[in-house]
Amino acid sequence: GKPILEVNNLRVSFKMYAGEVQAVRGVSFTLDKGEVLAIVGESGCGKSVTAQTIMRLIPSPPSYIKEGSSILFDGKHEISKMSESQMQNIRGNEMGMIFQDPMTSLNPTMTVGAQISEGILKHQKKSKSEAMKRASELLTLVGMSNADERLHQYPHELSGGMRQRVMIALSLACNPKLLIADEPTTALDVTIQAQIIDLLRDIQEKTETSIILITHDLGVVAEMAHKVIVMYAGKVVERGTLEDIFYNPRHPYTWGLLRSVPRLDSDKNAELDSIPGTPPDLYAPPVGCAFAARCPYAMKVCKEIDPEHFHVNDGHSAACWLNHPEAPEVEMPVGIGR
Ligand code: SF4
Ligand code: MG
Repeated sequence: GKPILEVNNLRVSFKMYAGEVQAVRGVSFTLDKGEVLAIVGESGCGKSVTAQTIMRLIPSPPSYIKEGSSILFDGKHEISKMSESQMQNIRGNEMGMIFQDPMTSLNPTMTVGAQISEGILKHQKKSKSEAMKRASELLTLVGMSNADERLHQYPHELSGGMRQRVMIALSLACNPKLLIADEPTTALDVTIQAQIIDLLRDIQEKTETSIILITHDLGVVAEMAHKVIVMYAGKVVERGTLEDIFYNPRHPYTWGLLRSVPRLDSDKNAELDSIPGTPPDLYAPPVGCAFAARCPYAMKVCKEIDPEHFHVNDGHSAACWLNHPEAPEVEMPVGIGR
């Protein structure tokens, strides 16, 4: 497919009183049309900053996109160089965003119908009644029954799951080419999470929208992603297809993430293995591999030289010295991979 988004060497820092936080340190990826790319990692890894930078949602200052970064959207828009008024046109028109907490993006003083139709009226040549009709269709599309009655309700009159459906309808109002979903189900209870994921997958298949899915939850990734990038300390440490990442992961950090996913065959109450330790300070990132302090396989070289990506197979690579042809053989932890 053709790329809808090409991110190249994206670096984003925050200038703070105490110094510069290097939140995103050279992220590159390509998203093809109709594809779902998941960006996974612990909180603070730079995944949300990456997503919000693609939509230019972070105020500058304190954040700034460093020289040499490129975010090419739809083959023609260099997002990193756009003015706020150009971005306003792209946001909500060609890109949509779904946030973790719908209440932060829904207006509590406006009815559901007024909010959805407002977005439509702003970007499309439609009459008020046509916009309302479209809003009603969108509510039906996101699985809300009695859509015409829902139009007149306020966000606080809806359950958390319903609000997330409204948020999704809102993000789809202008048929965006790219949808960014940042932890879309994290705030919801498990049953509702599954419904929302089913809905997103359904809509993606029907509309062939390209989606960037930001999540720390590999269960959600397995449900709908085609490609995955794993981020750690502001960098991509592994990339590949869903199959590559789940069945042939090659980075110890990815192993750690996979071990922290509940397995269907495991005892419900079994403790999940979380990765011991904490990510490095991004005011002063370490010289070598950023994961070295937490990595059970760390070698001398790891602390001295930050590994480049080693090729595993087409589209699959990992930034870990264990993939060097002369590295010692290491067994993947039990329960991971094929
Ligand atoms: Fe561990 Fe070294 Fe690989 Fe980093 S490069 S993940 S420290 S083995
Ligand atoms: Mg986040």
